Amino acid sequence: MGAVPVSPAPSAGAPRFDLPEIDAFTRPYWDAAAEGRLLIRRCGGCGRAHHYPREFCPYCWSENVAWEEASGAATLYTWSVVHRNDLPSFGARVPYTAAVVDLAEGPRMMTELIEVPESGPRMGMRLRVAFRAAGAGAGEAVEAAGTAEADEGDEGGVPVVPVFRPVPA
Ligand SMILES: [Zn+2]
Repeated sequence: MGAVPVSPAPSAGAPRFDLPEIDAFTRPYWDAAAEGRLLIRRCGGCGRAHHYPREFCPYCWSENVAWEEASGAATLYTWSVVHRNDLPSFGARVPYTAAVVDLAEGPRMMTELIEVPESGPRMGMRLRVAFRAAGAGAGEAVEAAGTAEADEGDEGGVPVVPVFRPVPA
């Protein structure tokens, strides 16, 4: 078996590969996402921002790194429409558009593109972050910033993940 991280499901059952692992370090990121805010990490040494969150700067190795709220603006770098995924429970969500986006602050981020226009995705397309319960299907509700349902306590709640949608021209 490989080293695929597996998060326990909120209710007992089959492992879920579509839910993030949350630990003490990444807790602020997920708490912010539940409030409709995207956090990145910025280095106080070299000034560069990075994502995914790390405890030290991947560019200069400084540990002087802090959370910062991102603007939520991004451009589309590349994408792939996924028609088949055998990992539970992605299979119920196909087709969906996996994407790599460039955040306005600089970091490149893996995510999902939603509300893809009929004309299709376009490299460089302007995007804005939105938030959705992890594991929800492409057609399911996306919460506006600040309205995502916060859980009482941290046990058993479904994490909220950032996704990106096109900015109307
Ligand atoms: Zn640095």
